[in-house]
Amino acid sequence: MYKELDEILVTEQQIRMRTHELGKEISDTYGDEEISVISIVNGAIIFTADLLRTITSPVRLDCIRVSSYGNSTTPETAPEILDNMRLDLAGRHVLIVDDILDTGKTISKVVDVITKQNPASIRSCMLLEKIGTREVVYQSDFVGFSIPNKFVVGYGLDFAGRYRNIPVIGVLKEKLQTVAV
Ligand code: 5GP
Ligand code: MG
Repeated sequence: MYKELDEILVTEQQIRMRTHELGKEISDTYGDEEISVISIVNGAIIFTADLLRTITSPVRLDCIRVSSYGNSTTPETAPEILDNMRLDLAGRHVLIVDDILDTGKTISKVVDVITKQNPASIRSCMLLEKIGTREVVYQSDFVGFSIPNKFVVGYGLDFAGRYRNIPVIGVLKEKLQTVAV
């Protein structure tokens, strides 16, 4: 057990196995077509790194940084693009990779930005999706795990920048969900 966590929702082995399945689903979908992967950082860094190595289709990678939760466990403001990707996506098959689908606002914002570049297609792959929290209607094409509405950390997911290196996905202890600098 990890001292920061109340509960483990997804183990290392489950992550590894599901990531390989997702890589196969994605490779079967795109075949030999090149995929332009856009990773929403920082949260999706670790998932993206592992997922890419399970994809057999040709891949280009870029990142986009979207304003996140800051130092809280609930979104405070509408997401904004803080650092845009550099790849030209016109006519390309774009696969957005993110750590977790919650209200749906982040992915909707990123889809809007990418749509303006006239890509050939846009899909997304989410490591996690929370059940019953959507404020914007959005369905991801590839989903790792559905989880209850709890604040989770680990495997790239943070609270105030911390806990990304925990190798499992778990519920952060309540007493740690207050900002300590
Ligand atoms: P949405 O815009 O869909 O509400 O939220 C998506 C973003 O919020 C994710 O990319 C992630 O950064 C953050 N997020 C949502 N739920 C959680 C959570 O339970 N834990 C952490 N660490 N981040 C979350
Ligand atoms: Mg994120």
